[in-house]
Amino acid sequence: MEDVLARARVVMARIEELAAVSETTDGLTTRTFGSEAMRRVNGIVGGWMQSAGLNVCVDGIGNLRGTQTRDGRPLLLLGSHLDTVREAGRFDGPLGVLTAVACAEAAANGRYGALSCRVGVVGFSDEEGVRFGTSYLGSDVLAGNPFDAARLSLVDAGGVSLAEAIRAFGGAPETLGADALDPDAEDGLVGYVEVHLEQGPVLEANGLPVGVVSAIAGQSRFSFRFAGQAGHAGTTPMGLRKDALAAAAEFITAVETHARGDEGLVATVGQLDVKPGAGNVIPGAAAGSLDVRSPRDAQRHAACARLRAAAAAIADRRGLALEWREVQSHDATDCAPGLRKALAEAVGQTGCRVLELPSGAGHDAVALAHRLPVAMLFVRCRDGLSHHPLESVTLQDVAIALNVMDNFLVSLAQSPPSAR
Ligand SMILES: [Zn+2]
Repeated sequence: MEDVLARARVVMARIEELAAVSETTDGLTTRTFGSEAMRRVNGIVGGWMQSAGLNVCVDGIGNLRGTQTRDGRPLLLLGSHLDTVREAGRFDGPLGVLTAVACAEAAANGRYGALSCRVGVVGFSDEEGVRFGTSYLGSDVLAGNPFDAARLSLVDAGGVSLAEAIRAFGGAPETLGADALDPDAEDGLVGYVEVHLEQGPVLEANGLPVGVVSAIAGQSRFSFRFAGQAGHAGTTPMGLRKDALAAAAEFITAVETHARGDEGLVATVGQLDVKPGAGNVIPGAAAGSLDVRSPRDAQRHAACARLRAAAAAIADRRGLALEWREVQSHDATDCAPGLRKALAEAVGQTGCRVLELPSGAGHDAVALAHRLPVAMLFVRCRDGLSHHPLESVTLQDVAIALNVMDNFLVSLAQSPPSAR
């Protein structure tokens, strides 16, 4: 345990070092796609990868990639993302990349014996999607997912297009397809495993340092608008009103009630815009957002249909018009049974109770799952807090996560998990 604690200390020190690499000078951490800060971080982490015996390159979309030299064994990819939200915490992303580097170091030192696979580490360039509003640019390219050419003309807040940003970082938008993982060129792909902080309160509430992700939730996002009639707040009797905000309020409560009664589902109205928005005027229009997530697609689809019907019924009863639009939708991603089972056994070997939990947040594994088996290990974070400078993970929990990954890799030395 002392040895794994020492390695966890190195991981923590490196996370600290990366937190100082920011595109801002306010002492906070902000690293967006294609920024100078990303170039510096790739240089620093690339150096650690090289010391771990990996062959390192930055691909055309800016992912930092390091792999052991090809020798006929298939590739197991470990990693996470190196970009951040604005004013980020220090663990979201770097925790997964630096535990992966620690595993590569241990593999190079022979800790895992004769592994049946090679170890590769990836630091993704765009998981948060802050600069261009497009998440998974890096993992989409690595997975070889269809890359919508229209995305290349998206512009950032400064008017720079994605194509220009890719070129400025050293890539070529025309040849991104060549950066896709090729199973033949890698002698086969075992899968992708990511360590990530939980970003939620479940592990903490269960008194557990780590948990195995069962699935990454599917998500549907809608915009809705109740249109009624604005009017004088003093002269319009209650029975003659078409109050759009009161309708929205009734709908928001219905959303909460439904989700509370539907185990595993979460639903949120996070935005609301009221017109005309004056204290002495009856609201004529109320427009809002609805976010519905579940690890089970059938449950999510059923909930979306039911909530839409509820909104329509509320509008009908109150004599209002309802506009309803789906903004975005993607299905749930199941973690690969073989890798998931191996991770769960690796957790059990540390003496911790094995808890499997879904991820409500999206991750690069969603994009990669189109190409190869994926699995994730969550690490407890304080108060469930993330995307915030106070995001916190303890040294002891990082040591346990390393211990789990060690056990997992040793189990691979004995028998590679079968692909999905
Ligand atoms: Zn993340």
